[in-house]
Amino acid sequence: MQKLGFERRGGVEGFLRALEEFHGYRAPGVVIGGFMVDLAVRQMRGHEMLDAVVETSKCLIDAVQLLTPCTAGNGWVRVIDSGRYALTLYDKVTFEGVRVWVDPKKLAGFPEIERWFFRRASKKDLPLEVLNPKIVAAGEGILSWRRVRVLTGAAGKRHAPEPRLCSDCGESFRAEGPERCPGCRGSYCEVVE
Ligand SMILES: [Zn+2]
Repeated sequence: MQKLGFERRGGVEGFLRALEEFHGYRAPGVVIGGFMVDLAVRQMRGHEMLDAVVETSKCLIDAVQLLTPCTAGNGWVRVIDSGRYALTLYDKVTFEGVRVWVDPKKLAGFPEIERWFFRRASKKDLPLEVLNPKIVAAGEGILSWRRVRVLTGAAGKRHAPEPRLCSDCGESFRAEGPERCPGCRGSYCEVVE
C-alpha cells in the first residue's frame, strides 16, 4: 500500500523538512498545499491510481510532488492554470476526483493567513516563522472541497507527435507544425561563442 499525503513524509513536520530541502525554503503556499493534498488523498482512499491537476503554476505542484507519486516528469500531475489556488486528485481510470481550494470566506477567521494570501503583508511584518505555524494550526480550516469528475478531454494524456529532424538546427524535436522546431522559431537562449 503506497503512502500518500503527510504519511508519505512521516507527518506534517517531516513534510516541512522535505519541503525545505526540495523547494529551497518553507514556502507558505506549499505548506497550505500540503494540507490540500492530504485532504484530497484521504477523500480518495481506496483509489490506487491517482492523477493530479493543479490550477496555478506556482507552489502547488511541489506539494503534490512531495506527497504523492505524481510528478511533472511522469506526467501524473499537470498544470491547468486557472489562476485559482486549487488542485484536484482524481482516479485515472474513472476520472472521479476531489477538488480542493483555499476558501476566501474561511480565511476571514485567520487574519494573518488572509493578509498573506491577498498580498497585504510584507515578508518583514509577517515572517515565515510567524506565518507558517498559523497555517499549520489552521490546517484544513481554510479549505473547501467537492467531489468532481474530470472531463476526459482535460484528463487525456497529451501524445507528443513522433520525433523528426528540424530543417534548421538539425536536432530532433516533437511538436506539431512546420518543419522548423519551436526553438528555431523563437528560442529562450542564444549561442554566445
Ligand atoms: Zn531547430
